[in-house]
Amino acid sequence: MALIVIDLGTTNSLACVYKKGKIILIPNQFGKYQTPSVVSSTERGLVVGETAKNNLILSPENTAAAFKTFMGTNKVYSLGGQNFLPEELSALVIKQLVSDAEKFLDEPVTEAIISVPAYFNDSQRCATKLAAQMAGVNVERLINEPSAAALYHQLNYEKKDGCIIVIDFGGGTLDVSIVECFENIVEIIGIAGDNHLGGNDVDNAIAMFFCSQNEISFDSLNNEEKAILYKQAEKAKISLSSNDTATMVLLTQNKEYRLILTNKLMAEICGGLFERIRKIINQAVKNCSRRPIINDLVLVGGSAQIIALQNYLSDLFDRQVHVSPNPGNAIALGIGVYAGIKLRDEEIQDIVMTDVCPFSLGVGARHSTEDKTVYMETIIPRSTMLPCAKEKTFYTLYDGQTALNFKIYQGEQYYVENNLELGEVTVGVNPDKAGNQWAKVTFMYDINGILCVSVKSCTGEVKEKEIVNEKLHLSREELEKSKEKLTNIIQSQFNFDGNELIKKLVYLYQFASPIEKEHISFVISDLENAYFSGSPVMCKKAYERTKEIVKEFEHNISQEINFEDLLINDDYDFWDEEE
Ligand code: ADP
Ligand code: MG
Repeated sequence: MALIVIDLGTTNSLACVYKKGKIILIPNQFGKYQTPSVVSSTERGLVVGETAKNNLILSPENTAAAFKTFMGTNKVYSLGGQNFLPEELSALVIKQLVSDAEKFLDEPVTEAIISVPAYFNDSQRCATKLAAQMAGVNVERLINEPSAAALYHQLNYEKKDGCIIVIDFGGGTLDVSIVECFENIVEIIGIAGDNHLGGNDVDNAIAMFFCSQNEISFDSLNNEEKAILYKQAEKAKISLSSNDTATMVLLTQNKEYRLILTNKLMAEICGGLFERIRKIINQAVKNCSRRPIINDLVLVGGSAQIIALQNYLSDLFDRQVHVSPNPGNAIALGIGVYAGIKLRDEEIQDIVMTDVCPFSLGVGARHSTEDKTVYMETIIPRSTMLPCAKEKTFYTLYDGQTALNFKIYQGEQYYVENNLELGEVTVGVNPDKAGNQWAKVTFMYDINGILCVSVKSCTGEVKEKEIVNEKLHLSREELEKSKEKLTNIIQSQFNFDGNELIKKLVYLYQFASPIEKEHISFVISDLENAYFSGSPVMCKKAYERTKEIVKEFEHNISQEINFEDLLINDDYDFWDEEE
């Protein structure tokens, strides 16, 4: 029975395991650590990951991506005539990761620690837990993504006392957190984020720039062309993290359009997005429970590799930003560190992690009976260190009042109607003059994000309530039903004998002539590309083509050289050359 940790990303998901003092990333069936968080319905059933991502272009109407952005909402995705909620699609991604992990570890996986953006509210957190349940794993704990990133950084870089700003820029979300590191204590003291800002927006900005430069209207493109344009934009963006220029090409209405991108141009194109990031960093600093003194800037997430962003941040803070070698894996590795702490591993036992409440919690209140609108009386302010317990006393508003009713909310808005309602608790009081009777409300918020509310009235009556999202309370029957719906997932295992062919080609390479060598490397890369595309069809085609070529190579290379043949060739007399 194993426990794995999962970075359930908007764009990519990863799993790793903590074993014998080591954090090991778990490869998927393609040998890659990142599995695209994409689900697609095919004729054979549901597929997840690389293969599904490919279908974003080939069959967009049957493919869903970025559903994490809508976790906890009632958005319905219709794939192949079946409807899915975001948590059901997430469950499919978790199932895929678990299945890959079980193969890798050779034991059943029953538990997981999963990361969520710090800004996820209660519904989104509950939907994440529910997704894991549907996938058949129990959630040991949900951990905030920036906390994980900070842990990873703390374990890997020079430990200086002071604060670091962790900026996690992924495909669809941005999380900024201010982390105070003192000796071996890692404490998150402030967070801010945007659930709708990520690398996808960069792709979008590039795509729009491409259209405006080429004077084409984006709306005039058909869906396939739009998808190709986005893919081109992403490819160019990724290429710019290791090259000075990148070229985009789009063919539409029999005309070819081009754009050459540079990092300088990227800075221009993304100026507005970078400005939004700056504002969120500002907000995170403002949200801190105490004034931070910043030592380091740490950039994680796939989009951390955008050089124009690194330059922008370096200029902004007038210091170098830290980008880890594989910033896309940093969160998963950080949760792995946490798993190590949890398992009380000696190596990392001395790091202590604390977390903060990602949002304010309070009750609805009115200043007087004339007040029409109910405002939010905050009991636990955002960024309070967890676990925590806070209390406040409330008095009756009018003469003869016999009960005090408390509706519980989460959020940062002044009026409760704009915040998320979590539940309610009512206690009785004795009829009396207004303001004479009271009740004390205590909020206890634990490290797992579970809120316990206890209300004690002056009459001695006590009511306690654990606030858990109703959604988590699926009946056994309902849960079984959802699980059943998701069993139809198929493993995109296509008999890829390509690996054998690659081995053969690599073996033949050493005996090949320079021209054959060139040909062999081309064939290997063709096979690899088909393999990484994750498309069974492309793999099969590449396999068939290569099988024949390999046979030919084998034949040619094994042929004994006929010296007589060589010598009759008058054009090339290598005996002469030897002299
Ligand atoms: P998420 O946390 O949303 O799942 P990731 O951290 O995996 O996302 O980041 C995915 C994003 O990173 C995508 O938008 C992708 O285009 C971008 N990305 C990946 N590699 C690079 C790179 N080399 N340069 C710039 N962006 C990259
Ligand atoms: Mg991420």
